[in-house]
Amino acid sequence: MTDDLVRHRTAAARWQGVDVHAYKEEGSAPFRDVTRQVLFDDVLVGAQLRYFEVAPGGWTTLERHEHVHNVVVLRGRGRCLVGDTVHELGVHDLVDVPPLTWHQFRAADDESLGFLCLVRQDRDRPQLPGPDVAAALLARFGDAPRRTPGPA
Ligand code: MN
Repeated sequence: MTDDLVRHRTAAARWQGVDVHAYKEEGSAPFRDVTRQVLFDDVLVGAQLRYFEVAPGGWTTLERHEHVHNVVVLRGRGRCLVGDTVHELGVHDLVDVPPLTWHQFRAADDESLGFLCLVRQDRDRPQLPGPDVAAALLARFGDAPRRTPGPA
């Protein structure tokens, strides 16, 4: 009999009964090389705990929304933009993303970045920046732009 109360690790950052999905629907928003796993989705808590993994050189969507993120880095190395500040990230670092705050997570060029992200189940959809705002924010990373043009 399967014990759903315990789902064991099957490999590094993989778990029994947890499917690995694309981060978002292709074309719905710009991103590169990100996978998503939903580890917990419990109505009694009212929250989801997801695990995202960004491959080397990849990045999550630059976005903002009313709901907050509580992030714990589990694997690898990278950087995040929160508001207008870029932070270096390593294993076990913690990140708060406040409401309506622009954010993006990037893996290092030579290492992936894996992190847990806690969100409420009932949450608003992300907003995407216009081209001028995106360019100004992404310039904070101080290297070549990594954001493909957004959807029309
Ligand atoms: Mn977000």
